[in-house]
Amino acid sequence: MLRYPSMIVMKFGGTSMGAAPQINTAARVVESLRESKPVVVLSAMSGVTDALLQAGEAGVAGHERVRDDKLAEIRSKHDKAIRELLKDARGARAVQETLRGMWDEIQKIFTGITLLREMSDRSRDLISSFGERLIVPIFAEYLRQIGLESEAVDARELIITSEESEFMLVDFEETRKRCQKVAKMARSGVVPVVTGFICSTPEGVTTTLGRGGSDYSASILGACLKASEIQIWTDVNGVMTADPRIVPEARVLDRVSYKEAAEMSYFGAKVLHPKTIMPAADAGIPIRIKNTFDPEKPGTIIANETRQHEYTVKTVTSITGVTLVSVAGRGMIGVPGVAGRVFTTTAQNRISVLMFSQGSSEQHISLVVSKQDGDNTVKALRREFQLEIERRRIDQISSISDISIIALVGEGMKGVPGIAARTFGVLGDANVNILMIAQGSSELNLSLVVKQKDAARSVQLIHHAFELHKLPAHS
Ligand code: ADP
Ligand code: ASP
Ligand code: MG
Repeated sequence: MLRYPSMIVMKFGGTSMGAAPQINTAARVVESLRESKPVVVLSAMSGVTDALLQAGEAGVAGHERVRDDKLAEIRSKHDKAIRELLKDARGARAVQETLRGMWDEIQKIFTGITLLREMSDRSRDLISSFGERLIVPIFAEYLRQIGLESEAVDARELIITSEESEFMLVDFEETRKRCQKVAKMARSGVVPVVTGFICSTPEGVTTTLGRGGSDYSASILGACLKASEIQIWTDVNGVMTADPRIVPEARVLDRVSYKEAAEMSYFGAKVLHPKTIMPAADAGIPIRIKNTFDPEKPGTIIANETRQHEYTVKTVTSITGVTLVSVAGRGMIGVPGVAGRVFTTTAQNRISVLMFSQGSSEQHISLVVSKQDGDNTVKALRREFQLEIERRRIDQISSISDISIIALVGEGMKGVPGIAARTFGVLGDANVNILMIAQGSSELNLSLVVKQKDAARSVQLIHHAFELHKLPAHS
């Protein structure tokens, strides 16, 4: 049997879909790799997902004018891209026709939301799905106009969630089967252009993979297609030692392990969605982060790290706008199962705990949750421990909002003494108060909680203290 060379998945983020010039740049990148049988995954044009959701909120609030202005803004952004990119009139008309159907649907959905004055999770998913659905036909047609055979693919026909779980889980077996169509396309020289971010339940209900989830779409497809590489094309030169918006002198890392990448993205490195790593790591497929606007730069390769670690700390990340909830009381000493009950309560209330710590004196349990979950967490825990509170075994369950998690990540930190001391030293000297500390048993990360107002400064101080700005420049 003839064996085909394997394909690559190329995902372009929102900035790469900013407007006609950026879309052209992205298309030229695809063209330059046409021999590698690319499968393209796209995010919505930048700002469009936010704008769709804002239009939805406006509808719920009954602000029809704001809603309509937002929708008109989105429409003119796409119309402008079509005008500027699609010079072949027939192709442009066909795309306009496809999009017209979507605009009718959008109109109906937003009217429904405004009438009901309510937006369920399901409606939210449906609304936000249009960002990716609108851009994909435009990009596919543009590829055709620059001489590549191409076809738009709606990921709701490919990525299917599993029905057993109330939480969103991907049914990889079903998804793999459905991906055959895309594999065939790519092998026959047609470039499939797939919507990122969106998927479908087995009943055909539109769902999404969560904000920033197009990276995850690329990884799911890469694993199901047994791609040789998953490429994430974005607006920076790779994974960096910190968010360059916070630390301008941050450096690009040439190699990052799957474990490090998972940890960094979990703790706020927005360059990659945290769920992206697992499908790629399970299938042993490397992920390459590349800059659409500087494609010659080598980028970062994420794979199984086998080399000796040159660095101890590789990245300093932060998550802002989270809430710290504390359960405290001297009566907790020796009472078994308090931590267990805290977790059962958060799980039952579908609250995701980002970070957790318990003092060895057992007098204090702290957890960090998202801002939206803050009040709910305190209420649920007060209900759960009502008896203990009445008996004064627990003195208080309280929360502090506007806090940030800062994390230091690097496999080379393992077994290296003094990292915590250096971190606390530099923050102490700068009068930054540390509210909570946790270290994973893998020693892959050290995370701490500070007030949000101290977050950026803390990241800069730690980055400097570990001399990450002095790492050899790779790009
Ligand atoms: P896309 O739209 O391509 O998905 P994102 O905005 O989601 O792009 O992610 C890229 C951004 O992630 C960068 O512009 C950068 O500001 C931010 N970022 C945060 N932490 C890091 C990091 N450690 N390395 C690189 N970029 C980071
Ligand atoms: N468009 C989606 C979002 O803005 C998904 C993505 O960009 O990855 O969250
Ligand atoms: Mg992103």
